[in-house]
Amino acid sequence: MTSPLLPTYARVNLAFERGDGAWLTSTAGERFLDFGAGIAVASLGHGHPHVLKALHEQGAKIWHTSNLFEIPQAERLARRLVEVSFADYVFFTNSGAEAVEGAIKTARKYHGSGGHPEKFRIITFAGAFHGRTLATIAAAGDPKYLEGFGPRVEGFDTVPFGDIEAAKAAIGPQTGAILIEPIQGEGGIRMPPPGFLRALRDLCDKHGMLLMFDEVQTGIGRTGKLFAYEVFGVAPDIMAIAKGIGGGFPLGAFLATRDAARGMTVGSHGTTFGGNPLAVSIGNAVLDVVLAPGFIEHVALMGVTLKHSLAGLKDRHGEIIAEIRGEGLMLGIALRVPVNDFAAAARAERILVIPAAENVARLLPPLIIGEEEIFEAVARFDAACQRIESGKPENSSAKLSGTAG
Ligand SMILES: *Cc1c(COP(=O)(O)O)cnc(C)c1O
Repeated sequence: MTSPLLPTYARVNLAFERGDGAWLTSTAGERFLDFGAGIAVASLGHGHPHVLKALHEQGAKIWHTSNLFEIPQAERLARRLVEVSFADYVFFTNSGAEAVEGAIKTARKYHGSGGHPEKFRIITFAGAFHGRTLATIAAAGDPKYLEGFGPRVEGFDTVPFGDIEAAKAAIGPQTGAILIEPIQGEGGIRMPPPGFLRALRDLCDKHGMLLMFDEVQTGIGRTGKLFAYEVFGVAPDIMAIAKGIGGGFPLGAFLATRDAARGMTVGSHGTTFGGNPLAVSIGNAVLDVVLAPGFIEHVALMGVTLKHSLAGLKDRHGEIIAEIRGEGLMLGIALRVPVNDFAAAARAERILVIPAAENVARLLPPLIIGEEEIFEAVARFDAACQRIESGKPENSSAKLSGTAG
């Protein structure tokens, strides 16, 4: 039986019907430890009581009204995001790509409204991922996502990640902004070299350009700070967030300073669904938990604990693991074996990881993860490595829903 879903994914033969904290139960009744969180989305795990309560309460009142009317819950979420960030303004979206797209438009409009419409070009970085709209695939510049989709949206100059000289050299009279993920996610959990983001900030200040951070994956506590820019002590002018803020509900946003947002006046941008009462009520509930005293510190501590345990794993399996990298609960295992083999071996041990570029297995557990689950996870990775070493990584991923492991 062929699936009527457009075949743009090579899906793993595995489906889930329940989630509880950091655990998922498959349709075959097997329990998996979820170290992917739906690609950093289920930030509070599955079925978090506080988020469920918001879903039920708001769901019983009103879901959608439209941005033609005031949405008090959106005002509240925006105000809270402004209070805890560099920003003065927030625009809610339904996804990360839309948030980045809005950020790009804001940067272009900043210069357009300031009498410099020619400054529409944006410097971006190889290995980046910004989403799948026409502009965001052009921004990231990955040929595999651009190919066959017609003329590339104009205005993006991609330079090597971490290469400040290349960034400098790319600045021309039309350059208006720089767009970067503070830590590359899909690109393989790549950290910027020390001082790189600061140097980009300085370049932007010197040339009257805007600095934009794509924190769709890194934001909302993932790195052990509320936003990754705090890890590096460098604030952007515009920032995109999504994934973690909705805890599984589709919600994103872009944030900007008053100055950077100067072009975004009435009628300049819009969205039908973005920031609807249901979505932002859930966003508020997620923030309640993430901003509660001690929560971010917990993430940072669990991040250190996990990274430390993974260092031990690497020592035991140097033939398989090349490097452990990342920050907070956004960690990568750089592998010497194909990442898909590792992911399959991990699934056979009932733990989920997310493959990324550079042959890296991404670990993005729910931020509510506890120490015992971390030790359990590392024990399962250990067993997965042993499977690979014994030459029986998984007995074929096709058998996963039911029989493997
Ligand atoms: C996931 C991601 C996006 C795209 O988000 P969607 O919700 O899939 O559109 C953009 N940027 C980064 C850094 C991401 O990780």
